[in-house]
Amino acid sequence: MSKVRVRFAPSPTGPLHIGGVRTALYNYLFARQAGGDFILRIEDTDSQRFVPGAEEYILESLKWCGIKVDEGVGVGGPHAPYRQSERKDIYLHYALQLVESGNAYYAFDSAESLNELRTAAEKVGETFAYNYKVRGQLETSLRLPAEEVRARIDRGDQWVIRFMMPENEEVAMDDMIRGEVKVNTSTLDDKVLYKSSDELPTYHLANIVDDHLMEITHVIRGEEWLPSLPLHYLLYRAFGWTDTQPRFAHLPLLLKPTGQGKLSKRDGDKMGFPVFPLEWHGSDGEVSRGYREDGYFPEAFVNMLALLGWNPGTEQEIFSMDELIESFSLERVGKSGARFSPDKALWFNAQYMHARNDEELGRAFLPILEKHGITADLATATKAASMIKSRATFVKEFWDLSDFLFVAPAAYDEKATAKYWKNENPARVAQLRELLAGIDDFSAANTNTIVHDLITANEWPMGQVMNSFRLAVVGASKGPDMFQICEFIGKNETLARIDKALDTLGR
Ligand code: GLU
Repeated sequence: MSKVRVRFAPSPTGPLHIGGVRTALYNYLFARQAGGDFILRIEDTDSQRFVPGAEEYILESLKWCGIKVDEGVGVGGPHAPYRQSERKDIYLHYALQLVESGNAYYAFDSAESLNELRTAAEKVGETFAYNYKVRGQLETSLRLPAEEVRARIDRGDQWVIRFMMPENEEVAMDDMIRGEVKVNTSTLDDKVLYKSSDELPTYHLANIVDDHLMEITHVIRGEEWLPSLPLHYLLYRAFGWTDTQPRFAHLPLLLKPTGQGKLSKRDGDKMGFPVFPLEWHGSDGEVSRGYREDGYFPEAFVNMLALLGWNPGTEQEIFSMDELIESFSLERVGKSGARFSPDKALWFNAQYMHARNDEELGRAFLPILEKHGITADLATATKAASMIKSRATFVKEFWDLSDFLFVAPAAYDEKATAKYWKNENPARVAQLRELLAGIDDFSAANTNTIVHDLITANEWPMGQVMNSFRLAVVGASKGPDMFQICEFIGKNETLARIDKALDTLGR
């Protein structure tokens, strides 16, 4: 069998939606597992929909996700160029080959005359289709004498080349996810393959020609392309390339969190989650949120995406890229849409946060501390991160979760004060302070033993006393283990904070 070669073939029409990233990811996993190649081809033949910056955005998104391109735009390779606009000269030859073999024809219809036909059809409640029923009566090389066709082309009339869709033929197609799919060609129209107006092929022609020339073995793409599959099959046949035709797999749609309808940018705006991997700045000044800028770890994002449509057949949910490469299979990709869950995205990030290396988190925490006027060394930031990471989903939450490690409370939470700073609790905290003042070993283990012994020996209510102690040191009833906090801020600071609480809140 020939080497597996897949391609991700986005059109640079705007920021890449997370559905597109998932397509790239599945292609990548499939290729890596098979020891094959992952190719990036930019399909930019639709100049009207071209958006500046979109290609750079695609490249950066793949890089952020850890999806490495073996061949293609930005990398090069034996089939360069990989940007279709730079392959312009290739396609006409193939379009003409189809005209010659009787699989395609010239059409000269003007935009106005086609519009008239559409309007006329609408009037009688029908939809106009350029197909086997009407092509014989239209301005095509099927009807016009050869000399006239030649003359029109020579004098510069605009023309297109359309595929001649066979009449009433059952096309049986094989999809690696859906199995056999059958379509009768009479339901299909004669798609434009090439336009003289901009000397460019349409998506269908360029896509098939390039997949063939680039020796693509598997086409893995979104479900929205399934309706184009019969045409693509017939194009392979018309070119005589069925022997090397790739296999196809159409991925299920990503659905809204409600499960109804396709996930759109508007859902993200409405419900407050990103639908793009990276932040995108539109030319209209509009900024769309990105997973990266929201603070997601790329590994968490990739893990979440991988499971949107594919299931491993086990309970396992956390997968590294290597584990995904090992476990992925198209057979376990579902046919029906995959519902996107913003909560699950958060959950994944939290899992990766908890498992994250402390020092890496400490490093990420340093600039945040600096922003709050705290000069800390890496060891300190790392220690703080290790104490709070189990409570965090994002690094950006670190400050709110740990400000008390760096600054003494400026105020005391009213609710907690009312709840705990009453009866004998202040006096107990004062007693606890005296005990702590007398020890040298301020390690969490030691203060823990000493304080617990004191509370138990006096039969004080543990929760009441510990929360009063916490209120005095932290200013609220929040935060990680009290004794770790004490160790972190040290003896002097702990005692000073208790003194201040006793002075401020009363003894
Ligand atoms: N250029 C198409 C897109 O933007 C590619 C579809 C395909 O993979 O065949 O989705």
